[in-house]
Amino acid sequence: MSTTETLIAAAEAHGAHNYAPLPVVVASADGAWMTDVEGRRYLDLLAGYSALNFGHRNRRIVEAAKAQLERVTLTSRAFHHDRYAAFCEQLAQLCGMEMVLPMNTGAEAVETAVKTARKWGYRVKGVPAEMAKIVVAGNNFHGRTTTLISFSTDPEARADFGPYTPGFEIVPYGDLTAMRSALSENTVAVLLEPIQGEAGVLVPPTGYLPAVRELARERNVLFVADEIQSGLGRTGRTFACEHEGVVPDMYVLGKALGGGVVPVSAVVSSAEVLGVFRPGEHGSTFGGNPLACAVALEVIAMLRTGEFQDRSARLGERLHRELAALADGERVTAVRGRGLWAGVDLAPKHGTGREVSERLMDRGVLVKDTHGATIRIAPPLVISEEDLDWGLAQLAAVLEG
Ligand code: PLP
Repeated sequence: MSTTETLIAAAEAHGAHNYAPLPVVVASADGAWMTDVEGRRYLDLLAGYSALNFGHRNRRIVEAAKAQLERVTLTSRAFHHDRYAAFCEQLAQLCGMEMVLPMNTGAEAVETAVKTARKWGYRVKGVPAEMAKIVVAGNNFHGRTTTLISFSTDPEARADFGPYTPGFEIVPYGDLTAMRSALSENTVAVLLEPIQGEAGVLVPPTGYLPAVRELARERNVLFVADEIQSGLGRTGRTFACEHEGVVPDMYVLGKALGGGVVPVSAVVSSAEVLGVFRPGEHGSTFGGNPLACAVALEVIAMLRTGEFQDRSARLGERLHRELAALADGERVTAVRGRGLWAGVDLAPKHGTGREVSERLMDRGVLVKDTHGATIRIAPPLVISEEDLDWGLAQLAAVLEG
């Protein structure tokens, strides 16, 4: 057996089968490229589902992490540490908000957003005890905890994990009328991905997000934007909401905030909203730790200049131009997305998204399928034009064959 086969067999034997990875075993990575245990190189067009926006082992981020590793890495929140204030202040500034509540994974941050909205509902809005409602969208993906899968519409994500958490109402994504009629006096929040990533990079109809923003304001409901995948440069702006001039009441951030090095997530909002917490009501041993703060501070500094957002916008035009040329119905039936992010629906004759992903892997390009015949393309924002063109040429070649 090859090293690859041996390692995959051992992983199958001893690791739970909750993923179906492509049969490649990565040993090292740099920028937009990964190298497997056999020494084969692959262009990464997935970027860890947007956790690697700045590329693998980005020099600035690795240096920031190394410097912090030499000082202090973890204090718990029992004590203050000297990176925390800057992290909160600078992240709040980047978001145009006032306060930050740090966590680690995306799912934890969405859980935190749910708890924040409920507490705000009871303490500020005056919703009767136990009555708070949160409106969410069909085909959402917000994470894997029991509460978050309680309002998933994906049967695979839900089956056999009940009983489910009550207090959520699901409306079709992009349907303003349904959203309007779902809101009641007890609604505390609307929770949406401004672009639905896992669903296949679904961009809502123009005007939907601003209308939801307005509706939420009128009805005294918090607009919570889950920008865990869409935020921090991916779409050509810092936040996907910006494309339509929308400012939510709360951002939920994760993935790229940790620079591809450590898990860092956060809820970012106003003092009125995040000010509802008192000591002891919520927390995390690792949330806001010194290493996480040091890494995130470097990420924030990199985003502040706008260079990564501009690069994503510029390369994104190139990506979408080339994908549009493939969308002739014979090779690709539809392309969606913004910036350096695309959902590509493959014509049925090419097989499943998984099969196309495997053919791309054989040509040295890594992407991942979603929902049958769709592949997602989300390269690190540091990818060169030449590498992007080469990767797309491999896709064209696979779809010719
Ligand atoms: N929210 C969105 C929009 C996501 O795309 C994801 C992950 O893909 C999550 C939440 C969950 O993040 P994590 O896997 O870090 O828990």
